[in-house]
Amino acid sequence: MRYEGIFEEAVAKVRHEGRYRVFADLERQAGRFPYAYNHGPVGPGEVVVWCSNDYLGMGQHQATRGAACAAVERLGTGAGGTRNISGTTHLHVLLEQELADLHGKESALVFTSGYVSNEATISTVAQLLPDCVILSDEMNHASMIAGVRGSRCPKMIFRHNDLAHLEELLASLPHDRAKLIAFESVYSMDGDFGEIEAICDLADKYNAMTYLDEVHAVGMYGPRGGGVAEALGLMDRITILQGTLAKAYGCMGGYIAASAAVVDAVRSAAPGFIFTTSLAPAVVGAATASVRHLKTSTAERRRHQERAAAVKRRLRAVGLPVMDSPSHIVPVWVGDPVRCKQATDLLLEKHGIYIQPINYPTVPKGTERLRITPTPLHEDGLVEHLARALVDVWHELRLDDRNPVDAEVLAAAS
Ligand SMILES: *Cc1c(COP(=O)(O)O)cnc(C)c1O
Repeated sequence: MRYEGIFEEAVAKVRHEGRYRVFADLERQAGRFPYAYNHGPVGPGEVVVWCSNDYLGMGQHQATRGAACAAVERLGTGAGGTRNISGTTHLHVLLEQELADLHGKESALVFTSGYVSNEATISTVAQLLPDCVILSDEMNHASMIAGVRGSRCPKMIFRHNDLAHLEELLASLPHDRAKLIAFESVYSMDGDFGEIEAICDLADKYNAMTYLDEVHAVGMYGPRGGGVAEALGLMDRITILQGTLAKAYGCMGGYIAASAAVVDAVRSAAPGFIFTTSLAPAVVGAATASVRHLKTSTAERRRHQERAAAVKRRLRAVGLPVMDSPSHIVPVWVGDPVRCKQATDLLLEKHGIYIQPINYPTVPKGTERLRITPTPLHEDGLVEHLARALVDVWHELRLDDRNPVDAEVLAAAS
């Protein structure tokens, strides 16, 4: 057996398809978001980060940094065990109370990541329900798919946000059979919203539980940052809300919020929760500070939406193929993995702009794109710099031949 050769061939195939992944070696500069040093082959150079999921810059906020340092000084570095065996610090208890309150639920449970919370909760809940069928949106995140697979329950995949299809599938099942509908509030690659209210209506009609991933919405939507379900007044209609502490909250970890019975059952049965050391106190302290801050401060949320709108407006004005997205995410169409990578290389080398190419398997083949995430800290000057750099790159790679751009608008912009 040529073990090494098999791995080399696997990577060669990825390279051949133009989707070999190179990680940017970044050194973030606390307090100077969105600037960072990129440790490239010619030494570190300053770049502007335009693709971070630290959507509000909370990872460098004074409140979160202060809370992290304070937690280390008081409790030390590691939690020292699993939640059951000495790893539940008082900070974990406070964070879970904060999250239950955020979502108006009886209880919350924190996991080491959003990925783990989806995988562990969906698989455990579906296994506990007798003869459960999982109905899953086709665009659901890999971590939810892992949960569906891990449950080994029968699954039905409904076409993305297609209510008629979902209803058809629900109607094909006996009314009394256990059903779990899993979906997201913001789909992060296209930036569209899930049909939360209509799906809740179907869940009521067909006697199903609802599981909503609010990873790309918590902290950013709703009067207190409770997500899109909070913004729409629908939190009480969702059985299990799931979120992350790693994106808008700028820290790390994932969680669910639900009834006391559901949370207690998951806490008692999910291997992904039970058999791993709990989050470090610094992370938990910082996350609690972040959640608390964003419950009362709305400035970040307002500015975030305003900046996202400004970027979409400016990029469209210079003729770039900005995909329709009602949320804070700004996808720009390329449609080819090799050109997508070339575009981002040029942006980095020539313009000091860091945007990671989004290629298969993160998005379907043929829909490769740049995924731009404006934050409250991307000022007008940076937006203009981005627009001009993208126009330059589009010209240089002749991307406008594929996505015709208005020549006059381009001339005026460059
Ligand atoms: C990022 C992401 C997750 C995983 O969250 P992490 O905290 O990064 O592990 C789950 N669901 C969706 C939709 C995501 O985009």
